[in-house]
Amino acid sequence: MIMIDVSRVPDSGLRVEKDIGLDDLVDLAEDTSLACPVHVVGVVRQIEDRFTLTGSVSGTFELVCGRCLEKFQQDFGTDVSIVLHRGETNEPEEAGPDVGWLTFEGDTFDLVEAVREDILLGIPLRPLCSEDCKGLCTQCGANLNSGDCGCRVEIVDPRLAVLEELKTRITNPNSK
Ligand SMILES: [Zn+2]
Ligand SMILES: [Zn+2]
Repeated sequence: MIMIDVSRVPDSGLRVEKDIGLDDLVDLAEDTSLACPVHVVGVVRQIEDRFTLTGSVSGTFELVCGRCLEKFQQDFGTDVSIVLHRGETNEPEEAGPDVGWLTFEGDTFDLVEAVREDILLGIPLRPLCSEDCKGLCTQCGANLNSGDCGCRVEIVDPRLAVLEELKTRITNPNSK
């Protein structure tokens, strides 16, 4: 938790700059970690009894490639725009696909809760160390990115297999 005190937000806004570590993001997906803390920069503004947080989050995920199973790092960064409501539980009007919201009690809100979703959305659904990762050999399991393992994999196209069979019948009519 990183508690931000909003009891005295100046008219110019309250500047927030914090790092969120892995300890605060225990619900990251399996095989997902942080290479460094997530950096949050933003400004909290007060509009009557409501607050907004606008800024950005950025960091580096440590992921496992879905093809070759090697660990790799991937940067992410996104803008955040959050409406903070004190003591309210209904979704505010301003909220929508681009504007998150958070309710809090008292004079402090948890910055981690405010940006958690924006961080989680940055995790790729299908992590790949590179677009043209060659993956693992289906026969020996070697990582093909580090070179040819020497296995010969015959790829048989079913349509070609039918043609092959026809050809065999034509050239050898007695076989079935
Ligand atoms: Zn890979
Ligand atoms: Zn192989």
